[in-house]
Amino acid sequence: MSKGKRIIVIGGGPGGYTAAIRAAQLGAEVTLIERETLGGTCLNVGCIPTKVLLHSAEALAEAREAYRIGLKIHSLAFDWDVIQKRKETVRSQLVKGVEGLCRANQVKVIHADARFTGSKELTMRLPDGTEEKAAADKIIIAAGSQPAIPPIPGVRENPCCVDSTGALSLASVPETLTVIGGGVIGVEFATAYSRFGSKVTILEAMPGLLPMMDGELTSILRGRMERDGIEILTGARVQMVESSSAGAMVRADCGGTARSFQAEKVLVAVGRRPRTEFLNLAAAGIAAEKGMITVNDCMATNVEGVYAIGDCTGKVMLAHGASAQGEAAAENAMGGRQVFDPRTIPSCVYGSPEFAGVGLTEEKAKEDGIDYKVGTFPLSANGKALIMGEQEGLVKIIAGRKHSEILGVHILGCRATDLIGEGALAIGLEATTEEIIAAIHAHPTVSEALREAAMAAENRAIHIPNKKR
Ligand code: FAD
Ligand code: NAD
Repeated sequence: MSKGKRIIVIGGGPGGYTAAIRAAQLGAEVTLIERETLGGTCLNVGCIPTKVLLHSAEALAEAREAYRIGLKIHSLAFDWDVIQKRKETVRSQLVKGVEGLCRANQVKVIHADARFTGSKELTMRLPDGTEEKAAADKIIIAAGSQPAIPPIPGVRENPCCVDSTGALSLASVPETLTVIGGGVIGVEFATAYSRFGSKVTILEAMPGLLPMMDGELTSILRGRMERDGIEILTGARVQMVESSSAGAMVRADCGGTARSFQAEKVLVAVGRRPRTEFLNLAAAGIAAEKGMITVNDCMATNVEGVYAIGDCTGKVMLAHGASAQGEAAAENAMGGRQVFDPRTIPSCVYGSPEFAGVGLTEEKAKEDGIDYKVGTFPLSANGKALIMGEQEGLVKIIAGRKHSEILGVHILGCRATDLIGEGALAIGLEATTEEIIAAIHAHPTVSEALREAAMAAENRAIHIPNKKR
């Protein structure tokens, strides 16, 4: 590894700050330029604040159901202002943590808006409006993304329409909430607000919710959300948003039938787009398509010594993906050759119940013509899930028919987002079902369901009947 390189990282989200710290660990002199707050979308308006709201919503839902486990709660209420303050406390504690880590690793943080003036040259616009020049041997771009706003008449004009950032900080819980888009953001906010008491409707243009997740498990999740009172319309194309006495009237074409939905608030969650338009990529000759910076599997752009990571590449819009790419880019900027392998990136949806998947879905395995076998294990047969009263859901393992290598792990149920790490490890190690079975899983834990699913794939599950041979 070469030492003493000057590296500039643009953007202090989970991609950028991780890249900066790793490059500093490898001996680089690192400057991190962030226009807003360290932590980026993830800490400030993404992963963390949504999960704070979801956590309070979950605790509320559990308290409502507490009589099932023998608890009597005579009066139950929530304080929206306290929940909002707690969200801010958690956010700021984590941001301070990142600031401390940058200091400890001698990463120089400059709050400024960076823009290219040459291939390794930048102008920084500082908060007081003045400009400074900066140059480096290597540059890592981690500029992130922003909500995509669809060209639906009324969406931009109607003040009741909010994006995910707006939906995190509503002054109060709306009586009615219509969500345009049944992707991850749509499902997570619908879950939270429905639990806080909003009447929620999701309008999704595609035939199903969460198109990238395993279809069988998604159907179970949809059923549960509908039973919990969330109205879900798929194949629903929103035509326009008008003003109404409630706030907004959302007009949609639902499979050929025109329908209207009154809503106090409308969450627009139809995806995100890279935030690269202010970077002046052309001045550096950096190739991009529809704003997404083009990179190879070492996270290198077409310009020698310039790398791009995270949401601004449009590849994987997940915090842990951005961080892993950041580490790879830092290693490569310091003379290494680390290929970024996306196979072990889990996708998680913090709904009710939780949903997580890694590797191939069954749909993708079929599409790719892979000869595979499936093992499933229902959480209704798992002791810990029953103890917690959370028996809804299942674990599904997809393995190659001939060699039993793990191709995909999908979990719907309690603690799914924590358990999926084992699936990522298995795929990364190219483990087989037999190797998962050989690892003894503690009892009683939900993790036993993973081992049983691997056993079911081999027709040797103990706690459920196996397929007839
Ligand atoms: P970002 O986090 O967007 O950071 C980019 C940073 O660059 C920003 O701070 C920005 O101010 C700065 N910047 C941009 N341009 C410039 C410039 N020209 N000069 C200086 N600074 C600049 N992902 C998960 O994995 N799990 C989740 O649970 C999850 N929940 C989410 C919930 C919501 C509501 C949203 C919106 C997203 C969520 N995500 C989640 C996605 C996750 O937040 C992103 O994938 C992740 O933050 C991307 O990291 P990044 O470093 O690429 O970009
Ligand atoms: P998404 O791509 O997950 O979902 C958007 C949905 O909107 C899609 O299902 C799409 O078919 C639908 N859609 C698009 N146009 C529409 C229209 N006109 N009418 C109705 N539906 C329409 O995007 P998102 O939910 O906005 O989330 C953005 C990104 O943020 C995600 O891709 C994910 O990477 C990240 N994120 C991750 C998490 C997590 O990891 N738990 C949570 C939130 C966000």
